[in-house]
Amino acid sequence: MSHELRTPITSIQGFVETLLDGNEHDEEIVKKFLNIINKESRRLNALIEDLLELSTIEKDDFTLYKSHFYVTELMHDVDQVVENQLKEKGLTRDLYVDESIALYADYNRMYQLILNLYSNAIQYTPGGGHIEWNVTLDEGYIKFQIHDNGIGIPKKNQGRIFERFYRVDQDRSRQTGGTGLGLSIVKHIVEAHEGIIKLESEEGEGTTIIVLIPQKI
Ligand code: ADP
Repeated sequence: MSHELRTPITSIQGFVETLLDGNEHDEEIVKKFLNIINKESRRLNALIEDLLELSTIEKDDFTLYKSHFYVTELMHDVDQVVENQLKEKGLTRDLYVDESIALYADYNRMYQLILNLYSNAIQYTPGGGHIEWNVTLDEGYIKFQIHDNGIGIPKKNQGRIFERFYRVDQDRSRQTGGTGLGLSIVKHIVEAHEGIIKLESEEGEGTTIIVLIPQKI
């Protein structure tokens, strides 16, 4: 963890010191350095947010604030937030949600869960790709399934991707602002709801993640 926090801070410090070294720097260089500082500080911010979230949900006395809501409401709320990202990356998506399904769960935590899975699908699917959500009832569980036809996860890495800071490709994740904590947060939220999470993925073909949340909890 300390390494994860130190890397962006060291980088920000280095570029700020260079800009303040008393020498003249041409405009293009200044702009380039400011862009790096901007990117690194955003990453640091995301990292701190995720670490705070994780430390809350890892506590033994962590409580869920449950309420009744329709799944379609949750899915559309998240979908609106990622709409621009989808467009910018040239991805298409389908949302198949059974409108009659109501859920008794922690809305904000479920929102975070759906958003993290959605963001990963967007992140790891090249432009022109497709993402599909299916939300159905399945033997006492509400089944959230997200499928993308992106880069996929090699078999040898699949057992570890729910660990904190584990990434298949460190550089790629960092470059795109990933914290390496998204799936650990997802796993904790699933477990807090006494649910189950499954992963199916084929390198170069795509990834499917299934989350099962008990209907009566
Ligand atoms: P990150 O911030 O790096 O995305 P996550 O915990 O969300 O961290 O994911 C861990 C790793 O799992 C990612 O770095 C990536 O290698 C892999 N991963 C997660 N979701 C997908 C996906 N839909 N397609 C391909 N790889 C994925």
